[in-house]
Order: sequence, then structure tokens, then C-alpha cells
Amino acid sequence: MEKIEYPCPCGGKVKWKKDEVIVEGVNCGILDVEYCLKCGEEYLPEETMEIVEGKLK
Ligand SMILES: [Zn+2]
Repeated sequence: MEKIEYPCPCGGKVKWKKDEVIVEGVNCGILDVEYCLKCGEEYLPEETMEIVEGKLK
């Protein structure tokens, strides 16, 4: 999957990193996440969301 950089709504730059993803108390392991350098907001890319959805089922 191609990783495209896009800016955060705050105007900051969004970078990729590997981080532990915990959604609804379920540890989904170390996955790709996007985070904003400016506000620190984290976003889950589609690829990661699919893994998270699989874990939550
Ligand atoms: Zn931001």
C-alpha cells in the first residue's frame, strides 16, 4: 500500500510511525499509525483499521 502524506486539519504535517494500538481496551499490537507533528493527534489508516476491526470482532 502506498503511503501518502497529507496535512492534519490543524495545519501540521502528518508522519507515519509504528505504535501500539489500543481500541476500546483491546490491544491490537504494533501497527502503522499516522500522527501529527504539531498537535500530536493520531490517525489510524485504513490498513490499520481493518486489522483493528478484525481484532474487535
Ligand atoms: Zn494536527
